[in-house]
Amino acid sequence: MNKKLNVGWVEWISLPDLGIPSIEAKTDTGARTSALHAHNIQPFGSNKNRKVRFVINPIKDNPELAIYCSAKVIDEREITSSMGRTEKRYVINTTLNIGDFSKEIEITLTNRENLNYRMILGRSALEGAIVKPDSSYIQTKLDYDVYKSIKNKLKLKRSLRIGILTREPNSFSVRRIIEEAEKNDHVVETIDTKRCYLKIDSSNPEVHYNGKPLPIYDAIIPRIGPSITFYGMSVVRQFQAMGTFCLNSSQSIGNSRDKLAAHQILVGTGIPMPNTSFANSPKDTKSLLELISDMPLVIKLLQSSQGKGVILAESKKAASGVISAFQRIGAPFIAQEFVKEANGEDVRCFVVGKKVVGSMMRKSSDDDFRSNLHSGGTSHKVRITKKERLISINAARSLGLNVAGVDIIRSDSGPKVLEVNSSPGIEGIEKSTEKNIAGEIIKYIEENVRLININQKKY
Ligand code: ADP
Repeated sequence: MNKKLNVGWVEWISLPDLGIPSIEAKTDTGARTSALHAHNIQPFGSNKNRKVRFVINPIKDNPELAIYCSAKVIDEREITSSMGRTEKRYVINTTLNIGDFSKEIEITLTNRENLNYRMILGRSALEGAIVKPDSSYIQTKLDYDVYKSIKNKLKLKRSLRIGILTREPNSFSVRRIIEEAEKNDHVVETIDTKRCYLKIDSSNPEVHYNGKPLPIYDAIIPRIGPSITFYGMSVVRQFQAMGTFCLNSSQSIGNSRDKLAAHQILVGTGIPMPNTSFANSPKDTKSLLELISDMPLVIKLLQSSQGKGVILAESKKAASGVISAFQRIGAPFIAQEFVKEANGEDVRCFVVGKKVVGSMMRKSSDDDFRSNLHSGGTSHKVRITKKERLISINAARSLGLNVAGVDIIRSDSGPKVLEVNSSPGIEGIEKSTEKNIAGEIIKYIEENVRLININQKKY
């Protein structure tokens, strides 16, 4: 630090690496290392690459304003405060800006709410400076108004702590997401959705796991299988209540999983879909079939996935038989016009945010009309039309999904959406398109995760 730097008893500083544009710091030549008052200080990452996530309320009188930070841990040290209290603290390195001066300094993190100043500048940070304890604010005066103009998203690259809700931690999709996240220095932890249990408490909602509350994640990636939709949605809802950015919200997952609700929402927003009908009572089966006049028709269990509950009925008689069987076991279903000209092909558009990041054509095996890869179909990269692109993006948006696999069937009367998947697999689309789809997901999280909360209630 330049010899000419004069520092008063209190100065305005900024910590740009942490996304803190202004904070008042008190000089304390009695302390060697500088200290930042933080809370929810949680270490994460591996022993080799230890990081710490913490929350700063830069303005003492405004606890609603919270900045979520993370930094590499460079040490853990026993520190005795001026009050004589000894505690183990994490030490991080960060850039300190004070007036025109900029310097890398060491900071310890500690939670001491009662102190008047959020930051203490110790001797090592002040090395070379002239400390003038009789005056304050010698350097450039900043203020807290700067926080008013910061939007809820802070444009800052930092290590994120990401949780993936999954029952298949070794699947291709999960492995690829972890790989891409780690390339950008993020840390990903897999969480078995079914092992989560919830503390539903308005002041302090938590998700517990294995006898302990889970830490605060910057982002949650839900990969909820159809068999646990209900429970998975409640876990995601709980993370949302904690203020965590969830890649797809609980509500959007619910919208897409209920095939009937999804149809109604999508058709309601003008998305073209095959004509579909739904009835409850066996008394209405005949009338229901009349709504779709052409044969054959497709009957789908509302709970179907991977094409397993999708049946082609060649005649009205066959359709009535299937329907009465479903009704007898109380399995809700929809009846749908059969798009014969699709020839067992459909197009999967992988949507991330407002973009289709990859698209593939899936073809059924042999004489099956279902193109699902799980039922033996094959896939290859395909160019989609402008209309298909628009339909896919709007379909995902209508259901509230940030990441979605939109399945489109090419009919004689134009593209029609068959279904929108909220946990689309990554393997098929990456292999067919040779695109980095997992990387697109990570990029979207980086752009949308909340690093600042202006009206903070929970952290
Ligand atoms: P699932 O959710 O079980 O995968 P889908 O509705 O996606 O059910 O249907 C599975 C496959 O069956 C589709 O990928 C498509 O190839 C075929 N299919 C579904 N509905 C129709 C239809 N109305 N006309 C023609 N083929 C269809």
